[in-house]
Amino acid sequence: MKKAKPLKRAPFKLLGHSIEPGKTTRITLEVAKLHTNTPIQIPVIVSHANKTGPILLLLAGLHGDEINGIEAVRQIIKKGWHKPNYGTVICIPVFNIFGFLNLSREFPDGRDLNRVFPGTKNGSLASQFAYIFMKEIAPLTDVIIDFHTGASQRNNFPQTRADFRDKGSRELCDVFAAPFTIDSAVLAKSIRNSVTKLGKKYILFEGGKANRIENFVVNTAINGTLRVMQHLGMRYFDVEDNEEPSHVIKRTKWIRASSSGVLNLRVENGQYVEKGSVLAIISDPFGKFERSVKSPTNGFIFNVNEIPLVNKGDAIFNIGKRDPKPVVVAEKKVEN
Ligand SMILES: [Zn+2]
Repeated sequence: MKKAKPLKRAPFKLLGHSIEPGKTTRITLEVAKLHTNTPIQIPVIVSHANKTGPILLLLAGLHGDEINGIEAVRQIIKKGWHKPNYGTVICIPVFNIFGFLNLSREFPDGRDLNRVFPGTKNGSLASQFAYIFMKEIAPLTDVIIDFHTGASQRNNFPQTRADFRDKGSRELCDVFAAPFTIDSAVLAKSIRNSVTKLGKKYILFEGGKANRIENFVVNTAINGTLRVMQHLGMRYFDVEDNEEPSHVIKRTKWIRASSSGVLNLRVENGQYVEKGSVLAIISDPFGKFERSVKSPTNGFIFNVNEIPLVNKGDAIFNIGKRDPKPVVVAEKKVEN
């Protein structure tokens, strides 16, 4: 009797294209045109392995001026790490291409894409982007890693965020092992809200600040992504563990400027501080006063406002209390 041939994996269908098993293809997502009538094309790079496995989306540039994530996904593609042995990887290195062209977080009409999900077919430009993403791309995925930075001059020490009640997403944040893993509530109308409602596992990565490339942040983003791919059984990567395990943060607090003036930082982002220690000095530029900003609690500084001029009430630090329970992630074996 003839032995039956193993069934070939079905092609992956996305945006009207069909990607055969074992192939990597670049396709484009077209949503709208510039006012010059030039179509805006968003490159989408898909790598469909010969063997079945999870579908992972690497999404960056949802905010057009957040470059660290764009650079992380670019490097992953350039090094061929987006080609899994099992499953499918979809890369969208620059989603908000309008903002990317304008060096801006928002769309040309000032809308923030991450506040209009799930979008509507005939809504604002940003809303149309959200709608197409939710209709054509999100339903096909199992896991989404969404790369962000702090807005403007707010610098985020590399961290992943999840609502810890969402056990699947939380587990993947632990696998990602950024320096901080933060319990954070889901914002209304955010991409996270829409995709987690669909039952997708979602990692929000935050690292660095807008309009900057910081190699430490980029490397943290890449290593975390490779750990997640390995954990999902998509491909084996030999990623070194961090020197320190991720600090799990459950409670956070913004520290605000107690007066207007010139801000001189006295701590490093990522640093552990004790209650009462001086975090910054606020002074007037004419030599009249100097006031210290003291930490109200023990904890880690994980976000720093790097604008040296502040108004009373401006958020200048975000500090997080460590969860004393250590993270335990089960080891998984992955074939090459
Ligand atoms: Zn962002």
